[in-house]
Amino acid sequence: MTSTLDDTATTPTDGGVPELTHWIGGRAVPGGSGTFADVTDPATGAVGARVPFASATEVQEAVAAARTAFPGWRDTSLSTRTSILFRFRELLNARAPELAALITAEHGKVLSDAAGEVARGQEVVEFACGMPHLLKGGSTENASTGVDVHSVRQPLGVVGIISPFNFPAMVPMWFFPIAIAAGNTVVLKPSEKVPSAALWMAELWREAGLPDGVFNVVHGDKVAVDGLLTHPDVRSISFVGSTPIARYIYETGTAHGKRVQALGGAKNHMVVLPDADLDLAADQAVNAGFGSAGERCMSISALVAVGDIADVLVEKVAERARGLRTGDGRRSCDMGPLVTRVAQDRVSGYIDAGEREGATVVVDGRTGDFDADGHGFFVGPTLLDRVGTDMSVYTDEIFGPVLSVVRVDSYERAVELINANPYGNGTAIFTNDGGAARRFQNEVEVGMIGVNVPVPVPMAYYSFGGWKNSLFGDTHAHGTEGVHFFTRGKVVTTRWLDPSHAGVDLGFPQNG
Ligand code: NAD
Repeated sequence: MTSTLDDTATTPTDGGVPELTHWIGGRAVPGGSGTFADVTDPATGAVGARVPFASATEVQEAVAAARTAFPGWRDTSLSTRTSILFRFRELLNARAPELAALITAEHGKVLSDAAGEVARGQEVVEFACGMPHLLKGGSTENASTGVDVHSVRQPLGVVGIISPFNFPAMVPMWFFPIAIAAGNTVVLKPSEKVPSAALWMAELWREAGLPDGVFNVVHGDKVAVDGLLTHPDVRSISFVGSTPIARYIYETGTAHGKRVQALGGAKNHMVVLPDADLDLAADQAVNAGFGSAGERCMSISALVAVGDIADVLVEKVAERARGLRTGDGRRSCDMGPLVTRVAQDRVSGYIDAGEREGATVVVDGRTGDFDADGHGFFVGPTLLDRVGTDMSVYTDEIFGPVLSVVRVDSYERAVELINANPYGNGTAIFTNDGGAARRFQNEVEVGMIGVNVPVPVPMAYYSFGGWKNSLFGDTHAHGTEGVHFFTRGKVVTTRWLDPSHAGVDLGFPQNG
């Protein structure tokens, strides 16, 4: 591909701010609804583009393009399909820094973190390159006399993906490589806050040789989402976002006969036992609490100090947090801004509330010396100590760089806290006691567990997903569960009659 996003999927407007497009049927399609939103650079506050919001009709056009492309793509051989995936992988490897730069410009996370997100998404592309192996069915010869049985898994048709702002590339890549490799066609509705990564990847697919209509992108809000949720030709919905919307997506999508996997919000606890290496624990608490400014569904937001280590642990975390440099993600800072002014105000408001409700503000990120030009949406690393479980900083998902220390006197109380929490996405334990770690992984009601690993995001060949209010539906993302989600099973029972076999028998078929 010699073209770039700038010359195909955007058009300049009179005001000089480029207008993004949808991507339907293999080409950039300007928005026709007349509704737009500004896309801001969170480090400067400047408006970088305008994103169109799709009307219901535009969603129908995207679904129609995907539906038209489906029979041809389904019938394309597995080796041809996967060779296109291999090409996509090669192109993405070569051009990953371009995608990372786009992510930083719209999301704000630092460049190295954006590159990390692309790499973790790429893992799923690599997993999906193995689709011929993953789709192999079972076969039984002579299951009954002269009867053979085999199973196959076939694609669903048009599948919808609705993604959040915090991983503009990785979260869509949790789903679309597997969906496409398995023979489905896709309509992706990315977050309106970070629309460009999806368009960039659509162009990469075109360059990789994906037929027109197999991968489509529509931008928008609830109108676009509802258009996908209620469309009879959309067979499944893969959603990632906040819990209230995940619940709505699950209820509405299933009511319209679709299979739905809806991943929701999180409140992840990191438990530090008294025998842990406290320097290691402090390093990892800072990495997991403040990486990507806390805007990760696997961020640690509650640091549970067990026993008499709390004072030392708080001091070690505070020392590290104070040393972090917050600013423009393109300037080699440790931490970038929050995604919008609204997010900045919300997070600052939670710190105010925590202070009011009696938490000790050990490190205060509400003000600071941020390395950026303009009017970025910054909140620095914040450490709150002596946080009570009734305070809003503990009960709510803040989704910002705020680490709350909860002091408990026993391992049992730590597990009780985690299991009482309505979310169950990720959790971690830091200890040198293998028996305690083993007990923890057995007892906590959480989908992804780290033992001395603070952000235990599973590899692509395992599946990603939480429990309780962190996931609606029963299928996690990627890995073999992802392959299962994007295919449906068929079992074929075959008898080739020999001439001696004949006769009428109305009894239920039995083995013999
Ligand atoms: P969000 O729920 O606001 O938005 C997610 C998607 O839903 C976006 O595409 C958005 O346009 C759409 N949407 C928003 N409001 C809607 C409505 N009323 N009706 C229909 N669609 C709507 O989430 P976000 O702020 O973009 O992302 C942050 C959230 O995502 C956090 O809660 C975070 O924990 C969660 N998240 C979870 C995981 C996970 O794996 N469990 C991963 C990443 C993010």
